[in-house]
Amino acid sequence: MLTIDGSTGEGGGQILRTTLSLSLITQTPVRITSIRKGRARPGLMRQHLTSVQAAAQVGRAEVSGAALGSQEVVFRPTAIVAGEHTFRVGSAGSTTLVLQTVLPALLRAPAPSTLTLEGGTHNPMAPPFDFLDLAYLPLVRRMGPEITATLVTPGFYPAGGGLARVSIAPVPALAPLELLSRGELRGRRAVATVANLPSAVALRELDAAAAVLGWEPACFRPSVLRGGHGPGNVITIVVESEHVTEVFTGFGERGVRAESVGAKAAEEARDYLAAGVPVGEHLADQLLLPIALAGRGAFRTVRPSSHTTTHLQLLRDLLGIRASVEPISEGAWHIEIGR
Ligand code: ATP
Repeated sequence: MLTIDGSTGEGGGQILRTTLSLSLITQTPVRITSIRKGRARPGLMRQHLTSVQAAAQVGRAEVSGAALGSQEVVFRPTAIVAGEHTFRVGSAGSTTLVLQTVLPALLRAPAPSTLTLEGGTHNPMAPPFDFLDLAYLPLVRRMGPEITATLVTPGFYPAGGGLARVSIAPVPALAPLELLSRGELRGRRAVATVANLPSAVALRELDAAAAVLGWEPACFRPSVLRGGHGPGNVITIVVESEHVTEVFTGFGERGVRAESVGAKAAEEARDYLAAGVPVGEHLADQLLLPIALAGRGAFRTVRPSSHTTTHLQLLRDLLGIRASVEPISEGAWHIEIGR
């Protein structure tokens, strides 16, 4: 059995998710040890446990160690079960990270799938739904599969309670992806959403973002949700270019001023625009797995995060891919994957 040490590199949840994804795809039993050893609260949190359970459902797998706090999981898949699946994170844990775990296998499954995901759809430290829908999935679609994602009910951290649906029409093999330039700028906007919070919070975030970005006033819009949502607050900044759309998100937090939430997200968008590359920090680490599965591909991006370098090393180790990461100019890197 293959053993993966979950404490390598940054020692976070990605090692678990990617190992499960690849175990499903290659139908190889794995033992993952020292799970999230690099984190303040190691072991499986709710969101990671749901990822293990989701992978077990899709892989009709025999699993041991699937419990909150567990630092070792043994996972033996026996199949890839396409079709209808429901995954409930059971808290505001991120539904998109659960999706990240099972999506690679379902992209190449023998039949289509429809997933229902319940939990958080807009969580700090995870891909928010808008990022998934506008930035990530369009690039995965470019590699062949048809995927649509629908946000039925947003679920904001910490309350959760969101619902999203994802349908996947798979392909036998993913096509390579090359994303070397952004192309022309086509659109830009910042939307500050408040759910059961004063609309002034959204307006303050937008003012702060506008001061950083200097875009025309029509680019900035508040969105006020009432009813059963929240409380919750996110600012979503979307940069649409000819070849790629990028999404930058700031999450409102108790004790953090709205102005700094808006300014921080805007600074990320500003730095991305200044770098002149197509791929931002988060998109970079999330594109690695589909490109590695396609066998080759390349993109230009901002300075790779430790998350990206850890993920790349894991893919080299597990799939035997060759990968290079080279600086090409101030603030721009070229990542190339090939067999
Ligand atoms: P841990 O708590 O161990 O860090 P985790 O599983 O919660 O584990 P990471 O392993 O750090 O989290 O992985 C987080 C994933 O979420 C990464 O793929 C990262 O790119 C993505 N992500 C985080 N923030 C954003 C964001 N604002 N926009 C898009 N993606 C994001």
